[in-house]
Amino acid sequence: MTKNENAALFKIGYGLYVLTTNDGERDNGCIVNSVMQITNTPNKVAVAINKQNHSHDTVIKTNKLNINCIAESAPFSLFQNFGFRSGRDADKFEDIAFERSNNGLAVLKDNVNAYMSLWVESAVDLDTHTLFICFVTQMDELSEERTMTYTYYQDNVKPKPQPQKKKGYVCKICGYVHEGDELPEDFICPVCKHPASDFEPV
Ligand code: FE
Repeated sequence: MTKNENAALFKIGYGLYVLTTNDGERDNGCIVNSVMQITNTPNKVAVAINKQNHSHDTVIKTNKLNINCIAESAPFSLFQNFGFRSGRDADKFEDIAFERSNNGLAVLKDNVNAYMSLWVESAVDLDTHTLFICFVTQMDELSEERTMTYTYYQDNVKPKPQPQKKKGYVCKICGYVHEGDELPEDFICPVCKHPASDFEPV
């Protein structure tokens, strides 16, 4: 009966979001998929963030974040800008048009169909990630376009892998290629921070 045990988790549906923060010195943002509304009286949203992301430490420090819902028409460059590098070494807002919501955090003008401003009520330590339970303090729909799902991103936005001459392992999440015959078990993708289990041989 088992087809592919490990593929089961990929059947969970996700959307994609630009999470924006500000550490008091500058705006930053990263791509997250683990966002869900959990209650509606009052409106509360849960967001999980990988501890390796700079945004994680900023949310811990400031207790606030914005979730920008990415629209289906968003280009791959949006993901490259916010997802494939760290806010520790890059100013991700250099070429991004944005306004500010009431909490002072960025709301992207382009490629998003809604935003919500969140205030952290509690944080659950999950070892590699923290799950933030948040109140919604402000929100609005910005367009009627559909939200980009992770499946839509994989099928229509992420460039198809080019034929490789070199042997190695490719990250199924972001396309990063680790060259070499072996992939260490504790390997972490330097680009998207996913573990060795998300790599496949090329
Ligand atoms: Fe990756």
